[in-house]
Order: sequence, then structure tokens, then C-alpha cells
Amino acid sequence: MILYIVLVLVGFYALVNLVQVGGSPISEALYFVVATLALGFVAFSLMRVRRSFALANPAPNRVFEIVKCKQCSFKQIKNFALGDYVTKTLGLCTQCNTANLFIDGIYGEPPHRK
Ligand SMILES: [Zn+2]
Repeated sequence: MILYIVLVLVGFYALVNLVQVGGSPISEALYFVVATLALGFVAFSLMRVRRSFALANPAPNRVFEIVKCKQCSFKQIKNFALGDYVTKTLGLCTQCNTANLFIDGIYGEPPHRK
């Protein structure tokens, strides 16, 4: 990561010199090449890192929970939250206000389903 910062600095330094020098066409061309290479390499590397990151972390499967009430017929489908498990109680039922809601089941949606 430090390498990228150095390269960005070198690239900008070369760009600044490119603007300021305006003298010999050889040094101008040299600074242009350095700036292009440095910034181009950084941009290319960042793109590659982002792509590999996307490959390593595919979109997570959607996971649902069926929440039911012990007393009434209240039933709800909600998104799975980390730490949830089957039979876990979730507090008082919003419908009958007497019994606890509990997780009746956790289901995962298969990938690439639309
Ligand atoms: Zn209820």
C-alpha cells in the first residue's frame, strides 16, 4: 500500500514538473512517461484488487427466517440477522401481546435465483 502512495506522489511530482518545466522536450517527455506509468500502474493495480475482492466475496445468499407466535396465528418472514437461531425468542408478539415470538425456521435462498 505504501508503494502505491509513493507511486502516486511520483506521478504527481512528474506531472507538476511537466507543467512547470516547459524547457527541453526530452525532460518533458521523460516526466510524461514517468507520470503515465506511475499513475497508470496504480490505477491498474487498484482495479485488479477490486476485481479480486469482488470474486472472493460473491453476493451473499439471501437468508430468511420464519417468525411465529406461540399463541396466535401471527407469522412473519424477516431477513436473517447474525446470531439468530431456530427456537430463539424475539420478544412479545405484536398481534396478541401475550406470547413470545420465536424463530420457527431459517431458510436460505439458492444463489442466482431471480
Ligand atoms: Zn401472537
